[in-house]
Amino acid sequence: MRVGQADVRTDSGRKRRHNEDSYVFQPPLFAIADGMGGARAGEVASALAAGALTESGADGGGERALARAIQEANRRVHERASTDAETEGMGTTMTVALVEGDSVSFGHVGDSRAYLLRDGRLEQLTDDHSLVAELVRRGELSPQAAEVHPQRSVITRALGTDPDVDVDTFSVEAKPGDLYLICSDGLSDMVPGEAIERILVANRSDLAAASRALVRAANQAGGDDNITAILFELVEGNSPQTAEPDEKTKEHAAVAEVAEEDTLHPEDAVAPPPPTAVDTMVVPAADIQAAIAERESQRPAHAGVGRRLLALLVIAALVVVIVVLVWQGLAR
Ligand code: MN
Repeated sequence: MRVGQADVRTDSGRKRRHNEDSYVFQPPLFAIADGMGGARAGEVASALAAGALTESGADGGGERALARAIQEANRRVHERASTDAETEGMGTTMTVALVEGDSVSFGHVGDSRAYLLRDGRLEQLTDDHSLVAELVRRGELSPQAAEVHPQRSVITRALGTDPDVDVDTFSVEAKPGDLYLICSDGLSDMVPGEAIERILVANRSDLAAASRALVRAANQAGGDDNITAILFELVEGNSPQTAEPDEKTKEHAAVAEVAEEDTLHPEDAVAPPPPTAVDTMVVPAADIQAAIAERESQRPAHAGVGRRLLALLVIAALVVVIVVLVWQGLAR
């Protein structure tokens, strides 16, 4: 199997002056890093991480090499954050894909995502390391409520906040015709999975058109955050061992692209935008109350008072633990 068409597109969105997303586009290696931190520290964090990955090239291949490369990227971001007061507390997500033979290896930290479109169906491959995803996994929040939760940009794992980082790795057995998407939350937060699926299916034969349509959909839904999307398809055959002519690495925010045309194409199939997400890693008490209230409203009325109280205490304790962890990470 080899990489056929591939495309990358990044956009500041409609609300941010800077683009703090970085990417690596060096087929068969692809990655997105979504930086966070005061001033422009997020840009520094994501660029450092992308640079570290580019240098290592995930030498040796496989999940272990990806995990090592991401850990090295973490070390560099953390070191800089610990020694440079201007970047204190910065961090970045990182989601990496490496095509090798008949398998695609992934390494992942944070809430950027990898998806696979196979046989016309979109599947999310990565688990978000976020507060709301954690609550969904524990059955404390419905996936629908998570999509519009005001705290959905709070992440529980990032590169740079600790000397060591726990990296998720996994591999997918590739099939010819597979289309992989890696994106930052500026896309996945604004455009629901079903709409992403429709856009990819409608533009399957032209990945440059597909990435344009994805970015346009995120902007039409509000463009609250920086948007980056990498698309690559796998086709039958062996990869040529020649240098890739179209490799690109963005370690700094790109020059703002010409604004996308604003017309709504029918194939974009854009759903109404969710409410604006709060861009903070700290969870205000009022929002915890709101989360609990939201959860209570979904609970069947006949649930016992004792059970409800216990569940309430469990969720409150969980939220407090996560807030403290996030706060410690930031305060360091
Ligand atoms: Mn983002």
